Amino acid sequence: MTRYDLRFAGLIALVTIAVGLAIGFAVGWMTRPDAPVEAGVRSAESATHSSSAGEQADGIPGYQDVYVNDYADLLDPAAEEEIRGEMIGLYDRTGVEMTVLTIDSLGTYGWQGSLESFATALFNDWGIGNAESNDGVLVLVSEGDRRMRIEIGAGYASSWDDRMQRVIDDGFLPDFREENYQAGILNGVEETIYELTGLYPGEEDSGTLERGFNRIARVLTDVWVGLVALAAGAAGALFLAVRRHLRNRPRRCAQCDTWMQRAGEQADDAHLDGGQQLEEFLKSVDYDVWYCPSCGSMEIKRYPAIFSSLSACPACSYRTLRSTTEILEHATTSSTGRKRVTYDCENCGHHDTEIRTIPKKSESSSGSSRSSFGGGSSSGGGASGSW
Ligand SMILES: [Zn+2]
Ligand SMILES: [Zn+2]
Repeated sequence: MTRYDLRFAGLIALVTIAVGLAIGFAVGWMTRPDAPVEAGVRSAESATHSSSAGEQADGIPGYQDVYVNDYADLLDPAAEEEIRGEMIGLYDRTGVEMTVLTIDSLGTYGWQGSLESFATALFNDWGIGNAESNDGVLVLVSEGDRRMRIEIGAGYASSWDDRMQRVIDDGFLPDFREENYQAGILNGVEETIYELTGLYPGEEDSGTLERGFNRIARVLTDVWVGLVALAAGAAGALFLAVRRHLRNRPRRCAQCDTWMQRAGEQADDAHLDGGQQLEEFLKSVDYDVWYCPSCGSMEIKRYPAIFSSLSACPACSYRTLRSTTEILEHATTSSTGRKRVTYDCENCGHHDTEIRTIPKKSESSSGSSRSSFGGGSSSGGGASGSW
């Protein structure tokens, strides 16, 4: 590449970065969070609806946890923990009590009525949400009935029903239709929180720019995942083609200016030392040997692999160092953990170990420890979906 090429490439890179930053900031600014919940609109009607619910309250399961009750066993422990963390984060940030419940079917509890009436009855039986602002949210998934509902507290204006419908249709149901319940619940819960607060879980402390990029990333993953993969694939292929071209292009001898010739892989080895041959064997580095047919001078070109788990050895400097990690103590929320990293060089036998600290787990999932709901009520607001 000439100096001009380099300068041109640098300019393109700068312009790309500047435009990217501008778009990221713009999207972040446009999607900044507004007031979380407009409360107090529907509370007046709440009394009328909940009366019928009370009569059948014995057909309603109790709760063991205020964040997640996975009675249909649709979530693995890690997913459950993730959701719990998000529910706690939401509560700590906004005071909104949101809870996720999965059940096998309404029939399991002998419920004769609709999913909607079940959700309202259960919402009021559990008392989800703050008793005054009535801002609780229940996500209910009935696997056997292939139906779900987001029931919201009486404090939400009726316009929230449409918003919850959108969350169900776009966030939960696509995965549910393929029976990927865990993925659907994880995604849907995040979308619900976003709808409620204008922020995705984990975004609370992020700046405008970061939020913008986050939003762009989500749009891309949701809608254009194929397109992005295609573009990335094309860029990757182009990069490799350019690399191969540069590597294979004819070159002249530095001594006598004759066109050089490339030795074949077999002939290569004769000119490489033991460490270099091992690097080739382990595929951490590839070598090309060029020789001049006129004056006999030799040029050895080194091409480190883009993807290799091996790193350069501090003793012999060949890229033949393998590392393995062993967890000695897992990190918890209250203490750091430790791991041992072992290095072994396949070329010179250099051996080393080091003990590293694993940072504490974040406090989010141990922050608040509520054990009961705030006594909120619902008047039947929300949305349902089936798949
Ligand atoms: Zn020469
Ligand atoms: Zn070594």
